[in-house]
Amino acid sequence: MGNPKAFLTVPRKEAGYRPINDRIQDFGEVEQTLNTKDRQEQASRCMDCGVPFCHWACPLGNKDPEWNDALYHGEWETAYKILKKSNPFPEFTGRICPALCEKACVLYLTTGDAVTNRENECAIAERAFLEGYVTIEHPERNGKKVAVIGSGPAGLSTANALNYMGYEVTVFEKNEAAGGLLRYGIPNFKLNKKIIDRRIHVMEQEGVKFVYDAAVNLEKLEVLDNLEHLVSLEKDFDAIVVATGTPTARDLKAPGRELKGIHLALELLGQQNRVLAGKEFSKEERVTAKGKNVLVIGGGDTGSDCIGTAHRQGCKSVTQIEIMPKPPVGHNPNTPWPNWPVILKTTSSHEEGCTRRWNINTLEFLGEDGHVTGVRVQPIDWKPNPEGGRPIMVEAGEPEVIQAELVLLAMGFLKPEHPEYPENVFICGDAASGASLVVRAIASGKKTAEAVDAYFKKM
Ligand SMILES: Cc1cc2nc3c(=O)[nH]c(=O)nc-3n(C[C@H](O)[C@H](O)[C@H](O)COP(=O)(O)OP(=O)(O)OC[C@H]3O[C@@H](n4cnc5c(N)ncnc54)[C@H](O)[C@@H]3O)c2cc1C
Ligand code: SF4
Repeated sequence: MGNPKAFLTVPRKEAGYRPINDRIQDFGEVEQTLNTKDRQEQASRCMDCGVPFCHWACPLGNKDPEWNDALYHGEWETAYKILKKSNPFPEFTGRICPALCEKACVLYLTTGDAVTNRENECAIAERAFLEGYVTIEHPERNGKKVAVIGSGPAGLSTANALNYMGYEVTVFEKNEAAGGLLRYGIPNFKLNKKIIDRRIHVMEQEGVKFVYDAAVNLEKLEVLDNLEHLVSLEKDFDAIVVATGTPTARDLKAPGRELKGIHLALELLGQQNRVLAGKEFSKEERVTAKGKNVLVIGGGDTGSDCIGTAHRQGCKSVTQIEIMPKPPVGHNPNTPWPNWPVILKTTSSHEEGCTRRWNINTLEFLGEDGHVTGVRVQPIDWKPNPEGGRPIMVEAGEPEVIQAELVLLAMGFLKPEHPEYPENVFICGDAASGASLVVRAIASGKKTAEAVDAYFKKM
């Protein structure tokens, strides 16, 4: 800690977003960057706490005080080396992590202005690629082969760690490119897909093999290769890692669900990312908000990504409704520091314009000529349950109709169930935990790689 008083004299400075009227014209990343001097100054705010709660809160155990100190001193390569030890993909988390570390930062508790750990992390990662600190390693092979099913952050993290341990790793991915929800869920305005391509290129050079358009039968653990030969993963590999995420989105079976113009969020988000990658869709297939009033059902982050996407597609208006009450603003006594605060979150997409409503239940979808035109909703309230447990939903006011020609369902994902697998099959990431975060998927991937290694060592 080079400047012990910086936390008193240097205010938190975020790079901020591009101006709204500029950023909604394209799908480029919305977040800007600070210059080198400001970035190092931001790192100087870290107090090198005796008990670094940032480190405690980070699922990867990132050593924020150590790399912040190196960054403050301009030792970018050292900062990257420290960061890389705990986080194999800081260029992803540096962009899209909600930064559990910042909400647990002691400065967040005392001043409300945490160290800008996420942005600092991203700056270190980008400098590392720019200056060539990201080197290609060629691990010595140990003769064992591992198949990883799924190339989301969990699969990539397992593959990466196992590769460094000497395993020969093949990743089977049902999509046409790697990244999972990083590529086909998270919009480009939060994460440019070139960032994923760059990492995959490193991993390929280091020896990880990727097989695309390869949907594995998860019951039989078989897959057709690109010559249409049936490959048995159990016969051809010594261990298998299932990192298939949460493929089933929660649907809303209200009357009228069959109307055209009602889509699961990922039908919009995945298709938009594919369009940006150059894929073409027919007019009938295309899901677009252009010229439409859009209703997003679900108040979470996926819903927020739908809002930003709808704006960029040229929607007329966006409304987001949520069945749960509005979270407290600023502070929630039920989730005290250093826990993650459950408070109102306003994203860059919300800032771009959106009517947000809470305590709204969906009754039915309304339509004309087979196409959705609106949604009948019921304002509600939540009353404490006298028998304890889940609060009781009660009506609060008259039902009303929200006009919408495009309805997007962003209500989360079902936790997947898995067959009973033999002991050389491991499950990781969202496939194991249910829908979560990129940083948790990466952490789970690392742990799974250790479990695979331990399995072979005890044989
Ligand atoms: C719209 C959206 C936005 C999000 N934004 C954020 C965010 O900003 N920050 C954050 O931290 N988290 C975010 N998340 C959550 C985060 O993306 C996930 O927690 C994370 O991607 C989970 O990683 P994973 O590798 O376990 O699964 P996934 O990313 O879902 O990857 C699973 C992979 O397995 C492949 N697969 C599935 N079945 C098979 C099969 N049978 N054969 C072969 N391949 C298969 C899939 O095609 C996919 O590539 C977001 C999620 C969504 C939906
Ligand atoms: S809690 Fe905040 S100030 Fe303390 S070491 Fe971590 S980042 Fe630095």
